[in-house]
Amino acid sequence: MKKLFILLPILLLTFACKFDNPQEREKPLIVATTSILADGIRNLVGDKAEVVSLMPAGVDPHLYKASVRDLDLLQNADLVIYHGLFLEGKMTEIFEKLAFSQNLINVSEDIPNELLLRSGPEAHSVDPHIWFDVSLWAMAMKRASDELINWQPAWESSVYKNTNAYLNELAALHQDNLKKVAELRKANQALITAHDAFSYFGKAYDLEVLGLQGLSTLSEPGLRDLTGLVNFIVERNIHAVFAEQTISPKAIQAVVAGCENQNHHINLAGPLYTDSLGAPDSSAGTYIGMVKTNVQTIFESLTK
Ligand SMILES: [Zn+2]
Repeated sequence: MKKLFILLPILLLTFACKFDNPQEREKPLIVATTSILADGIRNLVGDKAEVVSLMPAGVDPHLYKASVRDLDLLQNADLVIYHGLFLEGKMTEIFEKLAFSQNLINVSEDIPNELLLRSGPEAHSVDPHIWFDVSLWAMAMKRASDELINWQPAWESSVYKNTNAYLNELAALHQDNLKKVAELRKANQALITAHDAFSYFGKAYDLEVLGLQGLSTLSEPGLRDLTGLVNFIVERNIHAVFAEQTISPKAIQAVVAGCENQNHHINLAGPLYTDSLGAPDSSAGTYIGMVKTNVQTIFESLTK
């Protein structure tokens, strides 16, 4: 036990040094803000760089505030890659400041405006959850790949090869989703979750999607929304509603209770993975795994 106490500070120091001293790194260090983004970038760069996620799995990116340690990591990285579209809602100013001194890639910058969903005219009212439409996420990955090659021209052939392989996997995933969701549509089902993360999913795969909260997890659901939602579920004989991994199930539990009051039994299914991957060794530990796990959970719960 004593040994561990002596060893632990040494181990932590080694870990810290590896990230703090650019000269001592064997490979460039790329920091991606979210676990979903970090997984995508790892697929593009292969073993050329070390890719770390700023936010651990299970964390809500809308509310995430960078710590002093995070700021050090962002400044000392060789490259910082962020999602953009105000997903990292509390970090906008940090990116503006970092742009003066750091290599930055905003992966959503090239997504055509007409493909983005908005709740109002203001810039921050854009829906950031583009990864739920696999074809949009493929665009973000293509932009990341182009920018990675601009940054490290020597990596061109390997990043290009990795990107093509990954984009092929994403295209196959998109087709699988289309097939599965078509069956749900035939069964007259809809997807009901706690926050409006799935709007892109609904649009891309043509499924009705209803959420209790606004685009970000900052807003609380209102009672009026709840009553309307319960009536909708009962009239349409919806089989399940879904909890989500990064937010409290309280609101969606209220929907279940409201349905029970009207003698309509409904399953509380999930949790669905929304704004973060699952644990690294779980089926949702990668972006592709997360999408497959979600679609399977949705499909099984709504066709039961
Ligand atoms: Zn979200």
